[in-house]
Amino acid sequence: LIQLAIPLNFIGFVYREIRQGLTDIEHMFDLLDVQAEVLDRPDAKELEIERGAIAFRDVHFAYDGARPILKGISFEVPAGKTVAVVGPSGAGKSTLSRLLYRFYDVQTGSITIDGQDVRDVTQKSLRAVIGMVPQDTVLFNDTIAYNIRYGRVTATEAEVEAAAEAAQIADFIRDLPEGFRAMVGERGLKLSGGEKQRVAIARTILKAPPILILDEATSALDTKTEQEIQAALDVVSRNRTTLVIAHRLSTVINADEIIVLKDGVIAERGTHGELLDRDGLYASMWNRQREATQAEEQLKRVRESD
Ligand code: ATP
Repeated sequence: LIQLAIPLNFIGFVYREIRQGLTDIEHMFDLLDVQAEVLDRPDAKELEIERGAIAFRDVHFAYDGARPILKGISFEVPAGKTVAVVGPSGAGKSTLSRLLYRFYDVQTGSITIDGQDVRDVTQKSLRAVIGMVPQDTVLFNDTIAYNIRYGRVTATEAEVEAAAEAAQIADFIRDLPEGFRAMVGERGLKLSGGEKQRVAIARTILKAPPILILDEATSALDTKTEQEIQAALDVVSRNRTTLVIAHRLSTVINADEIIVLKDGVIAERGTHGELLDRDGLYASMWNRQREATQAEEQLKRVRESD
């Protein structure tokens, strides 16, 4: 019986490993919202990247073909600049990033990178030039070093550590008993949303893409974590064409342009200062968020003095 139990046990182990692997992949596709129907054209070319300028031109889009989500969106992200998209929940902000990464195709209008329509180039060449820091990063059941190195598998140990340093996560990792060899993911150490996002930033620093899409997590972060993430983002977005889907206004203050999206159209656009002067939707969002932060900090002070 023992002779039979051991191989059965082993089969069980292999089965669980394979299942876990599949779960990782399913998970990743779920999170990335991947649609299988976006296919390369038979004559698709490699994207030829020059400086990485992005242009959305009169983009219309509906997920189901009926309820329009984007209704004529036009804006540019000049090479090396940062554009932030803000707006109420459900306005279509993340949809813009999914269209740029070409998980879906626009219904009418176009999205181009350095003048090339994203529908005319291979998905592989498109995604090779874009670094995506998603809202919720998938961590593999492996070491934290493996998870960072995923950005560029040929990276050396020193490069992985330097990326972690730049992403403001190195100190946290060094404090772990097993350091960079600590296991993370569902069966290892569970990282917080802010820590996971910094792992994703470290990955992207290693990938060093010319274009960056940053989809901020909606979850509230404490001020220290927010500042650490901001510092990490400043490093990774420097001189890169960056599209930020922003939930925290601290990220948008320094953006070259802010697009305020509401009900699928651009309601306002401009720099932080210009939009505050306008005293419209952005200004009211800003004031609301500032009041919420102040109230939170006051509550914290009261709790600390108890
Ligand atoms: P949030 O700030 O809450 O993240 P958002 O502005 O990023 O919101 P999107 O994620 O772009 O909003 O979604 C815009 C609209 O499209 C929402 O009404 C949403 O329900 C709908 N939507 C998003 N993904 C899908 C999908 N895969 N299929 C159908 N509808 C979708």
